[in-house]
Amino acid sequence: MSSTPCCGGNGETLVFTCAGAAYAGQLANHAGIDLMKAGKAKLFCVAALAAELPEKLDRAGSAGKRIAIDGCDDHCCRKIMEKVGVPVDIHVAVTDLGIEKQPAEPHMLVHARRVVEEVENRLQGGASPSAGPTCCCG
Ligand code: SF4
Repeated sequence: MSSTPCCGGNGETLVFTCAGAAYAGQLANHAGIDLMKAGKAKLFCVAALAAELPEKLDRAGSAGKRIAIDGCDDHCCRKIMEKVGVPVDIHVAVTDLGIEKQPAEPHMLVHARRVVEEVENRLQGGASPSAGPTCCCG
């Protein structure tokens, strides 16, 4: 279990994605890559959290902000994070943006910009009310 410092942690913004096999899951991961390329967040391994690797749990728990991007309303990424005690500050599900969960196909990344824009909006406007507590002080 990670320790989760209050009020901003180490200031790092991390993005986790479900990286599921479906179009929506791959789109979620592509959006995470785009956020990393744009310098908005560092891409981090949700699988390492599921494996409960201590150093990964500590870094995730110490981050200033954690973004979870899921492909669909199964919310696998968010659930993994919550299961291991890593708070989710911003959560976006691709299918909530009107993008269908379909089987993977070669040209499936055309919607990534839409997901990135949604995360950027949340970063500017604060955490989603559904994302749960962002600080242990209040
Ligand atoms: S959230 Fe949906 S797309 Fe992502 S891994 Fe889970 S079932 Fe697959």
